[in-house]
Amino acid sequence: MAQIIKVLKGTKDILPQDIEMWQFIEEKANKIFSSFGFKEIRTPIIESTDLFSRGVGETTDIVNKEMYTFEKSDRSITLRPENTAGVVRSYIENGMSRLSAPVKLWYKGPMFRYERPQAGRQRQFHQVGVEMFGIKQPQADAEVILTAVNFLKSIGLNDLEVEINSLGCPKCRAVFKENLKEVIRPYLKDLCEDCQERFEKNPLRLLDCKVPDCQQIYSKPEIQKVITSDFLCEECSEHYTELKKYLDNLDVKYSENKHLVRGLDYYTRTVFEIKSNNLGSQNAVCGGGRYDNLVSELGGEPTPAVGFAMGMERLISLLPEKTPSLSDAFIVSNNPVEAFKLAQYLRENNINTEMDLSNKKFTKQLEKASKTAKYALILGEDEIANKQVSVKNLETSEQKTVSYEDCIALIK
Ligand code: ATP
Ligand code: MG
Repeated sequence: MAQIIKVLKGTKDILPQDIEMWQFIEEKANKIFSSFGFKEIRTPIIESTDLFSRGVGETTDIVNKEMYTFEKSDRSITLRPENTAGVVRSYIENGMSRLSAPVKLWYKGPMFRYERPQAGRQRQFHQVGVEMFGIKQPQADAEVILTAVNFLKSIGLNDLEVEINSLGCPKCRAVFKENLKEVIRPYLKDLCEDCQERFEKNPLRLLDCKVPDCQQIYSKPEIQKVITSDFLCEECSEHYTELKKYLDNLDVKYSENKHLVRGLDYYTRTVFEIKSNNLGSQNAVCGGGRYDNLVSELGGEPTPAVGFAMGMERLISLLPEKTPSLSDAFIVSNNPVEAFKLAQYLRENNINTEMDLSNKKFTKQLEKASKTAKYALILGEDEIANKQVSVKNLETSEQKTVSYEDCIALIK
């Protein structure tokens, strides 16, 4: 026998028995995001590598270690590790800045990151997300957070924790970065390898290191004093205070987390995450924030923007399992031509119908019907002669012989 080829490490099939969960959250995403005025956009899965090295940032784990990059006709191409950069590229390329603000877009689809596969972490995974362009006021941040919370509620996740923080603007953040480096420098040699590297390249990222020894160092009083210091300039501080006021008034429960910095370079001011206690160490279902400089860094007119991305696998793992639904009807008959005709009629009337395709015995067909369908539709010789069908409710075992038209009403 030929050797079996297996699915790649870190990737998964989404099987028919699981697909209803996916369809459920995709439909809710469409419904809730639309209710906030977001329109769906679908960008290519492959993009120029430059888009991510410039858009996501040279100092991020994603660009440094996690991208699937290959050459084709002398061009460097990358499978998208996230969708914000692609949406921003499309926004610029399609002149969406000419549309009246805000421009609100949402997306869903697969993302690719070469990470160590573990619970809650795959190499191909899926995200849904939104991006809002053109509004600098904190109302936009509030509306985006509200969109996330409403969507999570709509799929039955009410008790997740929203964490927020403000990273300030490049100006006030620069001072903060320097202060942080100064107090951490004495401990540099005790930090994990990643943190030693982050120290120069991206010192903010030190704060969300998951290594306990590093966190213990960062909890030292002199370092905490800097972390919890109020480093925001007046405008950034006002923006953050206003955002919190909106969230308070909208009854969005949140907590402030000074260690929340997010992995991507492009964030300015607001960052947020939504977490679950039921997910172990990969506990974030949603990450987002404001990125006022990304559009101009990718060559567009300066345009403020804010958005989020959610991991769909992690959402699904938090939801109760669904048993796959039964089909509406299974036709039991020894007359395939007549069975096909009835099946066709029912399917045209939106009734999910199956029938025997391999000349099985009547009793075998009935058995199959009782396992897979809500109704068995029996087409014996008498029924066919009278242009009727015997409809058996497989839950109650009630049976009734009716015309084809009445059969539809009965099932619906
Ligand atoms: P983490 O700190 O978990 O690596 P991140 O900052 O890399 O997260 P984002 O890029 O903000 O994550 O992605 C948003 C969401 O996408 C995450 O909160 C998570 O739910 C999901 N996600 C990210 N990477 C993966 C992955 N490799 N496998 C499954 N889901 C993922
Ligand atoms: Mg990551």
